[in-house]
Amino acid sequence: MNLTKFSRRESIEVTIGSTKIGGSNPIAVQSMTNTATADVAASVAQIERIADVGAPIVRLTAQGRKEGEAFAQIMPALRSDGYKTAIVADIHFVPEIASIAADYVDKVRINPGNYRTEGGELEALIEKCRTRGVALRIGVNHGSLARDMVDKYGDTPQGMVASAMLFLRRCRAAEFDQVVVSMKSSNTRVMVHAYRLLVEAMDREGMHYPIHLGVTEAGNGIEGRIKSAVGIGALMADGIGDTIRVSLTEAPENEIPVAKQLVEYFASRNGEFSVAYPERYSPTEYRRRSNVQTPIIHSEVTDDFIVIDSLSDNPTAEWRAAILSLECEKQPVIIRRKYNDTSLESVAIKAAADMGQLMLDGLADGVWVDAPNLTEEQITNIELNILQASRVRISHTEYIACPSCGRTLYDIEGTLAQIKAKTSHLKGLKIGVMGCIVNGPGEMADADYGYVGAAAGKITLYKGREVVCRNIPQEQALDRLIEIIKENGDWTEC
Ligand code: SF4
Repeated sequence: MNLTKFSRRESIEVTIGSTKIGGSNPIAVQSMTNTATADVAASVAQIERIADVGAPIVRLTAQGRKEGEAFAQIMPALRSDGYKTAIVADIHFVPEIASIAADYVDKVRINPGNYRTEGGELEALIEKCRTRGVALRIGVNHGSLARDMVDKYGDTPQGMVASAMLFLRRCRAAEFDQVVVSMKSSNTRVMVHAYRLLVEAMDREGMHYPIHLGVTEAGNGIEGRIKSAVGIGALMADGIGDTIRVSLTEAPENEIPVAKQLVEYFASRNGEFSVAYPERYSPTEYRRRSNVQTPIIHSEVTDDFIVIDSLSDNPTAEWRAAILSLECEKQPVIIRRKYNDTSLESVAIKAAADMGQLMLDGLADGVWVDAPNLTEEQITNIELNILQASRVRISHTEYIACPSCGRTLYDIEGTLAQIKAKTSHLKGLKIGVMGCIVNGPGEMADADYGYVGAAAGKITLYKGREVVCRNIPQEQALDRLIEIIKENGDWTEC
């Protein structure tokens, strides 16, 4: 077993305005606005609220010329208010808007899945970024892979990595190294596998670009926090990640304390643990170490299980080492750790960050959160959510809900609450609740049903990947969604 001092994967330093990430810099937290970007006053006010709770980097969507040009006013307004926050323009589909935004912002994010490159648009953008000192993020999303990648690799982590590597090689050919890369998915297993494969692919080619971590469409509340902590924590335990975003379907400023807690939790580690990952179990051919089909929670423990406690600063590695050294390979294992925190959120984030990797990799067979300051019901809820976020035991409806951005034309937070109130008793269903038709359908690709903003006041409903009702008035959409679930035999009464 290769045990080594905890160390983050080495990366080069990238400058994003007044913020530096990678190298020896601390992991930076960030969020994204959900105001209409062209509404300069609202956008500036929201950036400032996000910055006030500790985010050095904030991203805004720029879907058209109007939004791209809004940065000409947003940047000076922010600076004149005394904010040095690094600003990122988020671009899908239109290289021309990336070029406009690069005149003003500190970083441009492009999505290889929908960014046109045949006419040298990428090289032109790189030249503009180089001239102005703007960083570039190659931001791959599982839900929006380019058609040629899906044809060649399927909808897989391998396709995500191939997509990123094509763009990274072009950046390197242009001798441009102010590049950050991400591999997001709402499926934590896909997300963790994609980032690990990306690191291996970059290592093979001698690339050391910093990595931006995130789980997309994690939802809200404790469920959203646990899902993010499972995915991000699994990778941070590997030493991967230079900047993180926790995506929640809540006010963007709510994301920052969660992200900071994750960063601080890992920053305090100084013990010994494995940062090697060759012995991991492949998530694409997922298999469990033991014969246990359904992982358990603490109240279900029987004499068949070995309980492995962790007392060290590095529980993920401690459990991993203990499980892999068991003499009886198939012996089912439950991992246990004591959390003395008094807040539900704090216990949930720490336990999910510690335990998620063991569940994703198929090593452990159950979780036991020993939290003396929480109720039995709270502990059970955390444990079931960790298993669900790790995709090993589905016990309640899963909501694949986007955090919303400037493309969202309805109150997604309030709508998600209404949908949850009506459907949370349904077992094992995945319901997508997405802000826009441009990215929503792709991002919620594995949802059973989808509720997607189509235009102002209009919603399109999906059954799987098929549109069932297009552009219906929002007032009718929730009732119609319930009817569709009933028509398909997936409804049960509470
Ligand atoms: S799916 Fe949501 S977060 Fe993604 S672009 Fe659309 S509105 Fe924005």
